[in-house]
Amino acid sequence: MINELRWNPLLGCWVVVSSGRRVRPWRKATCPFCPGMPETGYDWKVLVLDNKYPALRVKPKTSMESRDIYKVEPGYGYCKVVVEAGEHEGDLDTLPFDNLIEYIRVLVEECKKLCRDDKIEYVAIFRNKGEAIGVSLTHPHSQIYALPFIPPRIVVELKNSESHYRRYGDCLFCRIVKLEKEDKKRIIYENPSFIAFLPFFAMWPYEVHVYPKRHFPKLVEINDEEVNDLADALRKVVSAYNSLFDFSLPYMMTMHQAPCGGEYEYYHFHIEFYPIHRSRDKFKYAAGIEWGFWVFTYDDLPEKKAEELRKALKSGLDKASASIHQ
Ligand code: ZN
Ligand code: ZN
Ligand code: FE
Repeated sequence: MINELRWNPLLGCWVVVSSGRRVRPWRKATCPFCPGMPETGYDWKVLVLDNKYPALRVKPKTSMESRDIYKVEPGYGYCKVVVEAGEHEGDLDTLPFDNLIEYIRVLVEECKKLCRDDKIEYVAIFRNKGEAIGVSLTHPHSQIYALPFIPPRIVVELKNSESHYRRYGDCLFCRIVKLEKEDKKRIIYENPSFIAFLPFFAMWPYEVHVYPKRHFPKLVEINDEEVNDLADALRKVVSAYNSLFDFSLPYMMTMHQAPCGGEYEYYHFHIEFYPIHRSRDKFKYAAGIEWGFWVFTYDDLPEKKAEELRKALKSGLDKASASIHQ
């Protein structure tokens, strides 16, 4: 097994390289995340497992030494799977509400634990859903990568929120919440502590951001009421997605927080969802212009897509209340 980081000098970022890593073997009859399996056992609501074939590990071996500008570092870190429920099928909009609450609490605990390791600089939490983005395992789960470096996308957000703070004296994200609330047109859902909107600057057709209204940089700073409201907001966003077309919508969900150590008071915890569909039967690909140049093209107006999501949320809620009253 090899787990190493290789430096990409063109982009100034690390590539996580591992070999001997296989995809988890599984069949529907032997889902590794169902209760009663060798790794899972019984009596849990939400379960954290070590990834059996991790991209990063605590005792990594490298395949070679650094040479010149070709830097190699050990691929130190943790890769975990968070199994969100005992049920084999489902999504954040169908899990029992208690599971959602417990899910967020478990993420908070993991962030605390993982950041105690001084070699860990960043805890990246994400959820991939749907075969269209390579996830064939339907058992509801998220992943955590505890990384020995700050991810490039976060580096960019930190830099821009710091320069915003220096220039204007307020938080970039709090400013975005204020602007979205004034414009109203792109808001999908709001509760006392969270707001979900399709941002003015969206790159994916149905991209949705979920920001806490109170300013805090890291997930571990969330309070009890906010845990409840975040669970509610996640459920509503995913319900809108799953009511948009006549199928359960694939998406990536990422949680953006400040790095483990250091002072990042100008940063603001938030969640970003990127579904890859642009219509019922078409994907939006990150193709030549997007991937090769990082120039995203948006083929409609974000305000119109937000309207579609609001309607989808309403029809999802109507269906849910109809099934309760039956
Ligand atoms: Zn299962
Ligand atoms: Zn803020
Ligand atoms: Fe972000």
